[in-house]
Amino acid sequence: MSIILTGDRPTGKLHLGHYVGSLKSRVELQEKHEQYVMIADLQAMTDNNADIISTNILEVMKDYISIGLNPDKTTFLLQSAIPELTELTFYYMNLVTLGRLERNPTVKTEIQQKNYENSLPMGFLCYPVSQAADITIFQADFVPVGNDQIPMIEQTNEIVRKFSATYGEGIVKEAKAVLSNTQRLVGIDGKAKASKSLGNAIILSDSEEEIRRKVFEMYTDPNHIHVSDPGKVEGNVVFEYLDAFYEDKNHLEDLKAHYAKGGLGDVKLKKLLNQTLQDFIAPIRERRNALNDADMKNILLSGTKKAREVAVRTMKNVRSAMKINFFEQH
Ligand code: ATP
Ligand code: MG
Repeated sequence: MSIILTGDRPTGKLHLGHYVGSLKSRVELQEKHEQYVMIADLQAMTDNNADIISTNILEVMKDYISIGLNPDKTTFLLQSAIPELTELTFYYMNLVTLGRLERNPTVKTEIQQKNYENSLPMGFLCYPVSQAADITIFQADFVPVGNDQIPMIEQTNEIVRKFSATYGEGIVKEAKAVLSNTQRLVGIDGKAKASKSLGNAIILSDSEEEIRRKVFEMYTDPNHIHVSDPGKVEGNVVFEYLDAFYEDKNHLEDLKAHYAKGGLGDVKLKKLLNQTLQDFIAPIRERRNALNDADMKNILLSGTKKAREVAVRTMKNVRSAMKINFFEQH
């Protein structure tokens, strides 16, 4: 049985990008593996304010349960309640250089998006190191993620190799990314990635009206003015969402050909996408409305306790390999 670890920042409610990039795989993986799902509140602190983070912890828990993660099969944990994660991050910082962190392409893009060029918090630059601690403390084999996370897994594995070469093999191990069919869902504005902080995502708990509004706001092809004009399928957000959510792939191919040739209007296409997404989200929203905060808190608390035991065990081995267990030795 493999070990799976993944997580989300509680910077807002989860969206369709999370679903296709990672949540869907988690629902499948929980059936056959030992899965940990972490709410990364400390990682969220690197660029967000504490109020937003604490209000979203239970919201994210509700998202998890409403999309089909099962607390009997998946262990949920809250990052800040496991201090061993912070401790391991601190040790790992000696195994990575500033230059290497600055070259991380995902972090580079995010630094630009957040206008951090002249005021970069060290914690933000180091968040891939903290992710390395998250992954390795649970001895994860696989990490189901969107492709923005590939550089984080590479970074993790470099740290693991350095750790093993310095302090001995077998204490922490390398992990592999599990990528889905839709590795990165675009934003409704056409930006490369739908994300909570960019506000360009359809949320898994959006109302019927919000979904409709967002679908009709979607970026299509600015040169497709008249229905009869040939339209561009490539880079067309509506088609990207249909690719991810519309199940009749043959029909979708016909629609693409029709759109490219001319004669298929954006409104017709958006109506189809709207219906597709309404059908997908309605049952999730319904399950979510039946959930309450107290139950979510209990699930998270008991999962965190269980996960902490694993973290404590790994850290005992880490400290002893690093010879920082002085009082136990003397
Ligand atoms: P934030 O804007 O606060 O960083 P986010 O929307 O990027 O939020 P995260 O919590 O950083 O979400 O990411 C959690 C997981 O969801 C990661 O595995 C990430 O790759 C995946 N994910 C997030 N957005 C997308 C997307 N648009 N397409 C595919 N996967 C995504
Ligand atoms: Mg993110």
